Amino acid sequence: MNLYNTLSKTKEEFKPINPGKVGMYVCGPTVYDHCHLGHARGYVSMDILRRYLEYLGFEVRHIMNYTDVGHLVNDEEEGEDKIEKRAKAEKINPIAIADKYITSVEEDFTALNIKPAHFNPRPTKYIAQIISFVEMLIKKGYAYETNGSVYFSVEKFPEYGKLSGRNTEDLISGSRVEINPEKRNPLDFAVWINAPKEHILKWESPWGIGYPGWHIECSAMSYDLLGQATFDIHGGGNENMFPHNENEIAQSEAILDKLMANYWTHWNMVNVEGKKMGKSLGNFTTIKDALEKYNPGAIRLWIISSHYRSIIDYSEKSLEQAYKNFQKINDFVLNLEAVAAGNVSAAENFNADSFREKFEAAMDDDLNTPLALSVVYEMITDVNKKIAENSFSSEDAKKTLALWKKMNSVFGFVLSGQAEIPEEIKKLVQERESARRGKDFKKSDDLRALIEKKGYIVEDTKDGSSIKQK
Ligand SMILES: [Zn+2]
Repeated sequence: MNLYNTLSKTKEEFKPINPGKVGMYVCGPTVYDHCHLGHARGYVSMDILRRYLEYLGFEVRHIMNYTDVGHLVNDEEEGEDKIEKRAKAEKINPIAIADKYITSVEEDFTALNIKPAHFNPRPTKYIAQIISFVEMLIKKGYAYETNGSVYFSVEKFPEYGKLSGRNTEDLISGSRVEINPEKRNPLDFAVWINAPKEHILKWESPWGIGYPGWHIECSAMSYDLLGQATFDIHGGGNENMFPHNENEIAQSEAILDKLMANYWTHWNMVNVEGKKMGKSLGNFTTIKDALEKYNPGAIRLWIISSHYRSIIDYSEKSLEQAYKNFQKINDFVLNLEAVAAGNVSAAENFNADSFREKFEAAMDDDLNTPLALSVVYEMITDVNKKIAENSFSSEDAKKTLALWKKMNSVFGFVLSGQAEIPEEIKKLVQERESARRGKDFKKSDDLRALIEKKGYIVEDTKDGSSIKQK
């Protein structure tokens, strides 16, 4: 498999450090709010990467952190802690805020069929390891303490900027950051922060009472969980390439004296009318809101219909198109199951291997999911034609199903069978029924539209309504 490496700016053949095994660290969300479709895009992309590595037979050790302290507002070096700001707004303890939004992320991931990481470390539970990591940095001369805070000395790490392609002189001249008199160099960044009185989350340390900076957690936790050595793959969003990932590299490589990770993968953003979907512009759709309107399989398909390094433009229309394509796949598989269960005999004329090879060639090329999906659509057209011509046997159908199952271990679609109408849909139908009886036709029509978007059709009958899958 070839994977684009941000560090070398080229596609490179993937070679694991230990044969058959892959260590993978993905920068997780800061858990102070519900995730939006920009996050869904990132974590579905990383899920596809993990699933394809598993498809190829690798045993993957997948780590994704939850940032629950130290990420300051606007990703700046100074200011309020995002978690604590939200805790104040919701009038609950910061740990309760983190717990609440971690639960929210887990719900979203489950709905989108994103495989959970093997470990989800949180800095508040890794304080001892973080402190000892900072101590190592000081001991090796890469960090220094001033007034209870500890800063990483960027000039001690000459390769600073190698990931994002920035050089330190440009950074200094372009920096609008106020000069912090505690720092020896304006580019130095905090690895440990002296806690002001009002900061709730704080711990004793050799430098006084404080809390960890945002970047240090990913270095300390990946070091602890991935063998205190170079690991295979680091994943993250484009927007975190600088300064977050650059700082991770500086910290980890200062300790390891070799690469932090061999492959740096970055996913691109979701745009809304030309602007990045995000918290700051307020133009985001949460995953939960999207799931109210769309089938989770359609959302997954919408995401992987673009390559993970391209921008996705969000629009209702593009999601509706994804839903149609998802239904097409769903219908195809149901149809295959019916043919497989039957007793259709015909000369064998389906070439599963050629589709499998095309699928693998697409995925091997830096996870080209749009191309891999086009192989599926091509297969659907081919098979449907043969079924219509009665030249597709039950044996062919069984083989095609086996191939589909393998492909879908990578796509991760949860297809719906014909039989069961979900409770959620039944409830919506009941709600619509009572709106209709109460002559609230606007509400009744809205609910019908919602039910249809979720893949079901309501038909009004004399004694109520009936429901079936689209
Ligand atoms: Zn990180």
